[in-house]
Amino acid sequence: MNLAKFSRRGYVQTPTPIEAAPAFSKALGGKVNIFIKRDDLLPGCSGGNKTRKLDFCIADALDNGADTIITCGAVQSNHARLTLSWAVKEGMDCHLILEERVKGSYKTDASGNNFLFHIMGVKSITVVPGGSDMMAEMEKLSTKLAGEGKKPYIIPGGASNTIGATGYVSCAEETLQQLFETGLKIDHMIVPSGSAGTHAGVVVGMVGCNANIPVSGINVSRTKDVQEKIVHKLAVATAERVGVKGGIDASEITCFDGYVGPGYSLPTDSMIEAVKLLASTESILLDPVYSGKAMAGLVDLVRNGHFPEGSNVLFLHTGGSPALYAYLDTFLD
Ligand SMILES: *Cc1c(COP(=O)(O)O)cnc(C)c1O
Repeated sequence: MNLAKFSRRGYVQTPTPIEAAPAFSKALGGKVNIFIKRDDLLPGCSGGNKTRKLDFCIADALDNGADTIITCGAVQSNHARLTLSWAVKEGMDCHLILEERVKGSYKTDASGNNFLFHIMGVKSITVVPGGSDMMAEMEKLSTKLAGEGKKPYIIPGGASNTIGATGYVSCAEETLQQLFETGLKIDHMIVPSGSAGTHAGVVVGMVGCNANIPVSGINVSRTKDVQEKIVHKLAVATAERVGVKGGIDASEITCFDGYVGPGYSLPTDSMIEAVKLLASTESILLDPVYSGKAMAGLVDLVRNGHFPEGSNVLFLHTGGSPALYAYLDTFLD
């Protein structure tokens, strides 16, 4: 792999820290050592994983002469917040199409990411019902803006195409270099698995580097079978793009779907426990929709003896904490 051949903007200038979480590990019984890769601390308004993907996607937009970015997400989308953030930095317009996956959940005056959309000066927000064809909605807006003389570029939901996933191939390389420099041996890596670019990219990077570190995804919406197929398809296409010989075997993709609860973005008791436990032991903030549910998965796997005693497990913290402020009632009850 030679990622230097792909255009990127340089949003990620230094490796994000890998921190030990001794108090959190102890609270879970002390048999497994948990480490956290702090991608929540990436640059861009309030940080998070989409910055690594947008580093490549916005470079592609600029290579294509774009002056306007269109993207989509859920009503409290971190991806929408970070796409807007980087568009602002680049002096580009940004339009958002938001999918109301939970009926009645869009509130113009909501806190969290929604509040940030407004203070960063989003050009427009279009709210569409759950289940809408988001690409069709973005194309409709793109045609309209092109008619007004703009040069729009569409970034798909979560920036989870092969261009965006390249950012997480790079994250795997960065992580391996850090492990080399510090002499830390990691036995297993846990990542949230949503629109799949993060999970697919990390797997491609690990396989491409012959790392022999198994990666497991914790689902935030779909069932295991469906999500594993989506991640595998994107991993195969990304491996081809970055030049991983031999491709990605389906056996490299593992997802757990036991922590989704009633559905995407809907709170679960285990998510609330994980968010509170990490905040009160390590003062690290997770989020209710992604990293909180992913950490709930890790907590359960540790308690159920999934990892051999003495294992070092690396959790990829993908960010999202601004969404906490849209869920006050969930945590204060
Ligand atoms: C988007 C997102 C994820 C999921 O990453 P995907 O690449 O979409 O699978 C995880 N955590 C946070 C905070 C996110 O915003």
